Amino acid sequence: MSASIIRIEGVSKRYRTVGGHFGGGRAEVHEVKDVSLEIRAGQAFGLVGESGSGKSTLARMVMGLETATSGHIEVDGIRLPVHNRGDAMVLRKTIQIVFQDPYAALDPMMKIGASIEEPLVNLTVMEAAGRRVMALSLLHDVGLPERVYDAYPFQLSGGERQRVCIARALAPRPRIVVCDEPVSSLDKSIQKQVIDLLESLRRKHGLTYFFISHDLAVINRLCDEVAVMYRGSVIEQGARDQVLFRPRQDYTRRLVDAARYFQEGIPRLSA
Ligand code: ADP
Ligand code: MG
Repeated sequence: MSASIIRIEGVSKRYRTVGGHFGGGRAEVHEVKDVSLEIRAGQAFGLVGESGSGKSTLARMVMGLETATSGHIEVDGIRLPVHNRGDAMVLRKTIQIVFQDPYAALDPMMKIGASIEEPLVNLTVMEAAGRRVMALSLLHDVGLPERVYDAYPFQLSGGERQRVCIARALAPRPRIVVCDEPVSSLDKSIQKQVIDLLESLRRKHGLTYFFISHDLAVINRLCDEVAVMYRGSVIEQGARDQVLFRPRQDYTRRLVDAARYFQEGIPRLSA
């Protein structure tokens, strides 16, 4: 069994201080509450939970984009938060993210080639010619033709844009990719293609995925271990088959039960 590559220990994030009624007591709102997870190298680790349960907040903390209010996070041996530019660059090379909305994630004024090369400009000493070769090979990896290099985002479909975002995330050769609802904005038919692509890229490059989705069918396809988040806390965690097919918690059971009515791939639970 491989060593853990992401270690999350007792992590909480509090955003808001809410005033009580009649100027009474004030309470901090926990967005992420005492979460502990370990993700092993090479794993596809799934995080499920309804909207607002704190999944993206946890993802941003693991990316180092936000600081935990308490607890510890370690990513491939780097303790977060990082305190200098060198560590920040190492972290950025190690862990990349693919977001839900491929329309918001790409600069509309920037050609696709330049977007894919951007992390290479910032994180490597590669020359322009080398970056171009790399970008073209990444386009090939994500199943897009070379001519996309000179295209603008508006010329691409949502699925093509998400492929570009995946290529850009892979550019610095990360060990870990956080996928935050990467297919949720895409049509069902396109979702399957992008999921297949993510799965083959994971195998090809030996990547670790921290894969976030509210869609249990997607998690079922891709992940070997699953954690369930509810109102900021991880309430259940274990091997995919255990969590999805033999859930221990009522909440997970309800989640799975609701999913089976409109999704493929989730068998009816035994009573
Ligand atoms: P999920 O990704 O599971 O839908 P989020 O992590 O986006 O959930 O949000 C969890 C909670 O944190 C929500 O209640 C949301 O309103 C709150 N939240 C998220 N980001 C911020 C922020 N920057 N400032 C204040 N509250 C936030
Ligand atoms: Mg989210």
